[in-house]
Amino acid sequence: MSIAKVEPLTTARALRGPFDYRLPAAMAGLEVGSVVRVPFGRRRVLGVVVELAEGSELPPERLSEPIEALEAGVPAELVRLGLWIAREYCSTPSRGLELVLPPGTGAAGQRVRSRVELRAEIAPAGEQALSGGERLGVKQRAVLEALRTGEMSAAELADAVGADRQVLRRLESRGLIVSRSSRLRRRPAQLEVGAAAGRPELLDEQARAVDSIVAALDGEAGAPRQLLLHGVTGSGKTEVYLAAVEAALARGRGAIVLVPEIGLAPQAVGRFRARLGDRFAVLHSALAPGERYDEWRRLRSGEASVCVGPRSAVFAPVHDLGLIVVDEEHDPSYKQEGDPCYDARAVARRRAGECGAVLVAGTATPRPESWLELPRIELPRRVDERRMPPVEVLDMRSADPRSGPLHPATWEALEQVRGGGAKAIVMINRRGFAPWLTCRSCGRPWSCPNCDVSLIVHRHSGRLVCHHCAHSEPLPGACGDCGSTTLSRAGAGTEQVEALLRERLAPMPVFRLDSDTAAGKGAHPRILAGFGEAESGVLVGTQMVAKGHDFPEVTLSAILDADATLRFPDFRAAERTFAMVAQLAGRSGRGEAGGEVIVQTLAPEASSIAHAARHDAAGFLAEEVERRRLLRYPPFSHLVRIVLRAESEPRLDEAATGLATALAATLPEGADLLGPAPMFRVRNRHRRRLLTKADDREATVAAVREAVERLASDRSLRKVAIGVDVDPQ
Ligand code: ADP
Ligand code: ZN
Ligand code: ZN
Repeated sequence: MSIAKVEPLTTARALRGPFDYRLPAAMAGLEVGSVVRVPFGRRRVLGVVVELAEGSELPPERLSEPIEALEAGVPAELVRLGLWIAREYCSTPSRGLELVLPPGTGAAGQRVRSRVELRAEIAPAGEQALSGGERLGVKQRAVLEALRTGEMSAAELADAVGADRQVLRRLESRGLIVSRSSRLRRRPAQLEVGAAAGRPELLDEQARAVDSIVAALDGEAGAPRQLLLHGVTGSGKTEVYLAAVEAALARGRGAIVLVPEIGLAPQAVGRFRARLGDRFAVLHSALAPGERYDEWRRLRSGEASVCVGPRSAVFAPVHDLGLIVVDEEHDPSYKQEGDPCYDARAVARRRAGECGAVLVAGTATPRPESWLELPRIELPRRVDERRMPPVEVLDMRSADPRSGPLHPATWEALEQVRGGGAKAIVMINRRGFAPWLTCRSCGRPWSCPNCDVSLIVHRHSGRLVCHHCAHSEPLPGACGDCGSTTLSRAGAGTEQVEALLRERLAPMPVFRLDSDTAAGKGAHPRILAGFGEAESGVLVGTQMVAKGHDFPEVTLSAILDADATLRFPDFRAAERTFAMVAQLAGRSGRGEAGGEVIVQTLAPEASSIAHAARHDAAGFLAEEVERRRLLRYPPFSHLVRIVLRAESEPRLDEAATGLATALAATLPEGADLLGPAPMFRVRNRHRRRLLTKADDREATVAAVREAVERLASDRSLRKVAIGVDVDPQ
């Protein structure tokens, strides 16, 4: 008896699969990775075959059969990867497997399928019928005449001669035509701009980098198989990736290139498509569901063998994977925020290891983890031999607060840009007009009724907006407590800086890029294109302005609140700040005119800012690694964060204390448990946080999983939501 062990796609945490199903002869072709619809209790659900067996511990009469198998399944390699993620990130098999399924397929069913069309061609008997004067209807004759010139689809025939399906069926039953179904490809629109397919001759450093990767591809003894490619922006990393991908293809193997979410904007993808042509596929959330599904199918069938995409593309069903590139490996978008909170960089390393693929992580600002763990290839210079732009750090503690969010020296530099007809980028990492509104008479603050945070002033829409939930309300004209009409707006966001720049730098055009202006479809590339085509101008916005583009006319970049990220209570704050300043610095002076960088900050002496100002990644990393070692932070330990959320505070505390007690008893020796600590309320949910810090990752994750599963099965606490984040960012 053939048995398929099926993991049903359900969300219940306490469920223990997989479950046995008997395979009828008609389903003998099922494999590990096949997606099946199965009876499950009183429901029918989708499930994934995770194993095949010859028998079951259960008697045959207790087993049911799958109802059907979907057209596309998953490679066995990805089934193992999905199950690994479920364990590694303390999630469920179902959630882990959903990640690797075809796009549009999941616990909710299969929402996207291939689109097929009927194609017809004339049969020899049809040719004879035409010439032999056999009796034919008018429409039938027209169809045969049309098909004489070549194969056509049913839709084309309907257009050309008005023949419906009925006519075609008749002709086919008389043996005069032959028809077949053929899959249509829904092609993603090409949003990218200006990509040259040229293949420059590699510089010595680039060639050496490619050689190391090729040595690893060829499995040469002693060649490291996972590498860090460290080089400043413009040092030619992307050319190295392209050459490495071509080397993998030349060896009959496939490749995945991961890019940050935002990096997908115009320029990066275009270079890959231009160089790789039909073997290239792209997978990302901006594609229509049908396009995504078809790109996935092209990879699954082997028609395409290179996939470029963000985080989730690490699950692309590429055949015989030979290479995974993680571009901008420091980028936070590689970490998934919802369950399972996987880290695509860690998943890439696991998958590469399992497939015998080579992994290349590239960046100008490596994470301390990669710096310590991966052998390095350095690209020390910009390709164009230009030096990195000088960075001026402006201490805002001594600036007159009345002069607003821009330092007088920043204004001066901007005015020079206007005078010279050049371009500038200004970054402030906060959207909206002002982050606080208070009453000047009684001090009343305006905060969100659902979250414990202040509301942000958005002047353009005339509203106060919460950045954590959907709440917004009209901007008040007066204080509701004391009636005073003098309200004070403190701090500045992108909207305010945009207004100030427009006023003072007119007639120079100002372009704002943040998640408010980039919300509409295609808005992001449109804003960048507007800035690119303008004679001169300023691009102002959040971190989005520092990524995914290359404008040689930019001679100044300024960052207004470089230490804003440093104030987060997060051990990665310094690393983030360094990366942000370095990224923005890399956007200036890429053309003939050279450039400069201004960093406004309240903490000029901070290691991250001081080192970024000297373009000294190695110096920063040396200090940062030491700091982490002393404080026993990753990579010198592993963190697991558990967040509990509930409307009822007593229930929440009961759950949090219970969990802490359970963990205290089961965590491995030497593990620290911090909390439960309160977090600010979001969307009317109170929150508590627990954090473990331990050397033994596996034992810690196992203890957390067990404690969380026990809590999830306690019915009195079912209104408490639990989220587990292994390696929180
Ligand atoms: P990075 O990815 O490190 O920012 P890129 O690969 O994008 O660097 O290279 C920066 C620019 O230099 C690009 O315009 C690229 O086409 C060009 N370039 C890269 N390598 C070479 C080379 N060997 N010869 C000439 N131009 C090159
Ligand atoms: Zn008041
Ligand atoms: Zn809110």
